[in-house]
Amino acid sequence: MILSCFELGEGMLSVEETLEALATMMPPPVVTHLVSLAAAGNRILAVDAVSPINVPQNTNAAMDGITLAWPDDAPAGDMYVDVVGDVLAGTRLTTSLAPGQAVRITTGALLPAGADTVVMSEQLADVGIHGRVRVERPDRVRRGQNVRQAGEDIARGQRALGAGTRLRPQHLGLLASLGYAEVEVFRPLRVAVFSTGDEVSAPGESLPPAGIYDTNRFSLQGLLSRLGCEVIDLGILQDDLDSMRTSLVAAAHEADMVMTSGGVSVGQADWVKPALTAIGELGLWQIAMRPGRPLAFGRIHQTGGVTVPFFGLPGNPVAVMVTFLQFVQPMLRRMQGEHDWQPSRFTALAAEPLKSREGRVDYHRGVYTSDEAGQLWVRTTGRQGSGILSSMVAANCLIEIGDGCAAVEAGALVTIQPFGDLT
Ligand code: AMP
Ligand code: MG
Repeated sequence: MILSCFELGEGMLSVEETLEALATMMPPPVVTHLVSLAAAGNRILAVDAVSPINVPQNTNAAMDGITLAWPDDAPAGDMYVDVVGDVLAGTRLTTSLAPGQAVRITTGALLPAGADTVVMSEQLADVGIHGRVRVERPDRVRRGQNVRQAGEDIARGQRALGAGTRLRPQHLGLLASLGYAEVEVFRPLRVAVFSTGDEVSAPGESLPPAGIYDTNRFSLQGLLSRLGCEVIDLGILQDDLDSMRTSLVAAAHEADMVMTSGGVSVGQADWVKPALTAIGELGLWQIAMRPGRPLAFGRIHQTGGVTVPFFGLPGNPVAVMVTFLQFVQPMLRRMQGEHDWQPSRFTALAAEPLKSREGRVDYHRGVYTSDEAGQLWVRTTGRQGSGILSSMVAANCLIEIGDGCAAVEAGALVTIQPFGDLT
């Protein structure tokens, strides 16, 4: 049985157990609204898109040439055909073709009644007699060739796209081809983001001798906006219980999710836990993974019984990105209405030995390439400390070494998560 998020205690959890616990959380559904197709990119379709028409609407030519009813007794050698007219894209021939007759046709033009085949211009020769052409190599013609059948892409009444689809450029084109000018999509999620730490300074300020610049707010904002969320940037919180408590409650009023980084490691100025316990519920988890071991997940209670999900991510910049990609991303996608999402995973051969440890999942930053035979290989970006953000910059994937694996030798198969639409 899967325990609810807050019954897990503070023991060590596997990555899988963490994902299962988070999947039991069902945040309230997001409202939907109509937007113009031009504004619908990267939004999530809230209802199925059913086609009101056949696409293509009519059976039409896929090539320039002539169209005719292809005879059963076509000769093997040269064949002569009478061309009795023209039909251009956007026009319609009202008369029906008699056997042996053809018309010139351009790509996209409707096949007239009686025609079933298009012979392309390159296969036709002028014979010097007006209205007559020679079809070369008629033995190569197949009845029905170079013709697009009405409804062959999408038939009228067919579900063209399912609710929950994230709209990429090809989806927008497809919806336009069905005549949709507007679509119903989920409202963008609003996510409030804080950094925490007395040592953390905003870029643009002078750096105190014992300070570091705030990295996480910016990488998180980038991840969130690529995911299609609206970011509420709430700056840097000092390591102070009272201000944290009030700021988190205020953030939950405006946001669908609240996120902090830092302050969840044990033993230091860790205010996230007491702050959350005072205003909601919190699970503080040690996850058997590297980087990203400490992670807090909770709910901030609002008046009226509403609860707003909360993530307390680790402080180290690589750990922030890795835990976002593994745990926050699936929840945000579910909340956005994108139900069938899974991270893409491939296998590659390790180009060098990789350090790992049994009982924990390691996420190395890697660079994968393909050799001449099409085989994927992956190497690491070098030093893998959870504060070394240049390892993310150099990488094009995460190498995911499962918790059953004590070490990876050169040439062994490993799983990679290629950087996708977010990173
Ligand atoms: P903490 O869990 O708060 O102790 O943070 C762990 C490490 O991450 C410490 O070295 C922090 O200085 C660093 N860190 C925390 N927040 C940030 C941030 N917003 N940007 C860059 N580094 C941070
Ligand atoms: Mg801190």
